[in-house]
Amino acid sequence: MDSISSCALAEVVARLDALYDPSWAESWDAVGLVCGDPEQPVRKILFAVDPVAVVVDEALAWGADLVVTHHPLYLRGTTSVAATTFKGRVVHRLIRGGAALYAAHTNADVADPGVSDALARAVGLTGDLRPLQPAADDPRRGLGRIGDLPAPMPLREFAALAAAGLPRTAAPLRVAGDPDRTVRTVAVCGGAGDSLLGTARAAGVDVFLTADLRHHPAGEHLEAGGPALVDASHWATEWPWLADAAERLTSALAAGGITVEARVSGAVTDAWTATTTDLDPRAS
Ligand SMILES: [Zn+2]
Repeated sequence: MDSISSCALAEVVARLDALYDPSWAESWDAVGLVCGDPEQPVRKILFAVDPVAVVVDEALAWGADLVVTHHPLYLRGTTSVAATTFKGRVVHRLIRGGAALYAAHTNADVADPGVSDALARAVGLTGDLRPLQPAADDPRRGLGRIGDLPAPMPLREFAALAAAGLPRTAAPLRVAGDPDRTVRTVAVCGGAGDSLLGTARAAGVDVFLTADLRHHPAGEHLEAGGPALVDASHWATEWPWLADAAERLTSALAAGGITVEARVSGAVTDAWTATTTDLDPRAS
C-alpha cells in the first residue's frame, strides 16, 4: 500500500488558514489561494519564498500538487492572467501542470510562531521570543521578534553567527555599528523591517537584524543612538520559515490521518544574484 495518501486542496487550505489566519494579513495584502480547484487531490506540497519561474520549474519537475509561497503573486487587482507577463505565465504553467498556488504573507509574519520566530532561531536566539510590535488584538502575535543570545558577544561575532545560520545568497550581511560592541538582546524581522527601526530603538535591544535597510532611515537611526544593525538579504530572512510551515502543515494533516509529502525549495530567489567581488575580483 502506498504510504502517501492525499486529500482535497480545500482540506489543505483549511489547515493552512488555521495556522495562518487570512484575517491577520495587512489590508493591502493578498493572501490565500491564487489558483487551484478546491476539489483537486493534494499529495505533494512545495514551500518557497517567491512564486517565480524557477520555483514553478521545481514544482512541476517534482510533480507538486500545491505550491505554498510567502510572497503573493498578485498584490494589486489585475484584469488578465494571460501568459504575456511573467505572472500570467506562472499561473498558466501551474494550472497546466495541475499545481495550485497559495500565499501566506503578512498573516504568516504575525503568526505565533511565524516568519520571524524561524529567523530568530536561525540567527542563534534561544529561550523565549516576544513580538517586537505586538498585534493589537493578541499580544502573543505580531511583527518581528525579540530574544536573547545564549551569552553576550561582540557584534562581529553575532554577525558571523547570523551569516552561518542563514542560507547563503550572493551578498554577505551588512553591519552598522561598532563591531566590538557587546550584544545580547536581539530584535529580528523577516523581510523589509525598515518601519520597525523606531520600535527596535524604543525596545532597547542591542542589535536589530532585518532586510532591505536603506541609507537615510538606517543612518538616522544610528545617529539617534539606536541599536546596531545587521542587514541580510530579503529572501534569506524569510526562507527559514518554510521548514517550520511545512512541518506545522504536515503535522496538522497527520493529526487528521492525512499523509502528504512536503518539500522546501532550495532555489535562491533573492533579487540580488552577484556582487562585484564575484564578477570581477579586481573590483574588491
Ligand atoms: Zn518578504
